[in-house]
Amino acid sequence: MSRARVIPAVDHLLGLSEVQALATMHGTRRVRQALDAEVSRLRTELVAGQAEAGTREFAATLLVERLAATLAATRDPSLKAVINATGVVIHTNLGRAPLSRDALAAMHRVGAGYSNLEVDLQTGQRGSRHVHLDAALRDATGADAGVATNNTAAGLTLALAAIASGREVIISRGELVEIGGGFRVPEILRGSGAHLREVGTTNRTRVADYAAAISDRTAAILRVHPSNFRMDGFTERPALADLAAVATRFGVPLVEDQGSGWLGFDLFAADAFPPQARAVLSREPAVRDSVRDGAALVAFSGDKLLGGPQAGLLVGRADLVATIRQHPLMRAVRVDKVTYAGLEATLRAFTSGRAADDVPVMRMLALPFDVIAARADAMVTRLRSAGVACEAADGASTVGGGSLPGETLPTRLVRVESTSPDRLLAALRQGRTVVVARIADDRVCLDPRTVAEDDDDALAATVGIAMQA
Ligand SMILES: *Cc1c(COP(=O)(O)O)cnc(C)c1O
Repeated sequence: MSRARVIPAVDHLLGLSEVQALATMHGTRRVRQALDAEVSRLRTELVAGQAEAGTREFAATLLVERLAATLAATRDPSLKAVINATGVVIHTNLGRAPLSRDALAAMHRVGAGYSNLEVDLQTGQRGSRHVHLDAALRDATGADAGVATNNTAAGLTLALAAIASGREVIISRGELVEIGGGFRVPEILRGSGAHLREVGTTNRTRVADYAAAISDRTAAILRVHPSNFRMDGFTERPALADLAAVATRFGVPLVEDQGSGWLGFDLFAADAFPPQARAVLSREPAVRDSVRDGAALVAFSGDKLLGGPQAGLLVGRADLVATIRQHPLMRAVRVDKVTYAGLEATLRAFTSGRAADDVPVMRMLALPFDVIAARADAMVTRLRSAGVACEAADGASTVGGGSLPGETLPTRLVRVESTSPDRLLAALRQGRTVVVARIADDRVCLDPRTVAEDDDDALAATVGIAMQA
């Protein structure tokens, strides 16, 4: 034990001015706790002969250094902002949609204080939180009513529990799919207490297949957008309008899991998107079209092509939405005030025709190739002048987020030469500014499409630093 005798008393250490400064920043309790841990670590090391005993002053300096480093590491938040240089616009692992300025401002206003979340300001009586999206959802989708939940998985489970529990839901065998981590349509159905009634085949299902399966046990027809895979060849799937006509004839609601939240071109100026982006988006079903074509309920995410905060939105017939709002599960999957604020502001950007400029996801899809190319070329010039070997090369961005599988948009990449692309990628992830990029053809590729223009400087600086690591 004698080797550990050089360790000063904790009370002495706590009196040192450096430690006092740390206590002001992190709190005395936290500092004492961390200091106790550092002292016992050093004691163990000294006893095991893993550290040099040295003098009391040396031990004190070492402990204070270690304490400062440990406390600094805990101040660094676990969830950090990241520069997305992957070119995947809706990147689920990177948090999906970056939010618009208006959405963030609304979230800040409502989040920083109190709000009329459940107060009717006319009467002063208890109100309903659902009302805050009524008008914005109606204007954005054309549906009579709507409701927000925590995400689409929750929204569909809730909707089916409310309208189909204990009864049958008809679905095509081609749509019994897995959408993404843990979202399997048959399991969602089971979770809601509905019974699955499969019709058709994996590759072909016709309106007549649905019609033949409708009975007095039928509670709904479910249609799921195959958002993350593509089926080619001998395939058939009815148009939504044709399926809706059958559903209406038999008095059965048609529920569509649309997924992406693409609202449709009606809310944009004619030339809001370059031709390729326009072509890609035109292959995505639009919520407004589903509502117009007779879907009784449409479910979609708030944080994919809608470009808002995480949420699952259900829009459609007022009577169904009323039933859903009254179901006990509603309380379990409802969203908070900040989400309402962000969703309302985001929907308003679409309904006032500003989405292609103001909603980042839309803006990234609407970026003209020339603008991206100019940014890539400028980045190459800068990096080269900092001694980084790189070149600009045409490439492809993807929409991502389980939307528009296989669809790409033309972009210009910055391709960085390095002896070890894997090591460079890791260094980019671990710097003060975190950059997530990808490797193609043995080079680290940076796609300006998904990098906010304001971040170009930080990106260039981070690449420069990472090249030296
Ligand atoms: C993304 C997606 C979901 C899941 O949405 P979350 O909001 O992430 O729960 C469900 N269905 C479809 C068709 C999707 O594209």
